[in-house]
Amino acid sequence: MNNCPHCWSVKIVKNGKSCYGKQNYKCRGCKRQAVERVPTASLQQEELLKRLLLERLSLRAIGRILQVSLGWLPHQTAVAASAPALTGR
Ligand SMILES: [Zn+2]
Repeated sequence: MNNCPHCWSVKIVKNGKSCYGKQNYKCRGCKRQAVERVPTASLQQEELLKRLLLERLSLRAIGRILQVSLGWLPHQTAVAASAPALTGR
């Protein structure tokens, strides 16, 4: 994390760990605290994943195409499967 998510100040300092073990930061600009976020898949990748799911490819094949670990996929497929675009079919 390079910027404060609240005011975009670069004056952030490490402020211990959150209860989940993530790095905690404190902004010197707005005095608010922020926790480092786990990077999520890009929107483009999510769109691609949805399309691959519609083709009924196996998770293994999708993992190879998107070059992501299989551990990442079950969660993402659950998210994609619950997306409005895929329901009602
Ligand atoms: Zn700030």
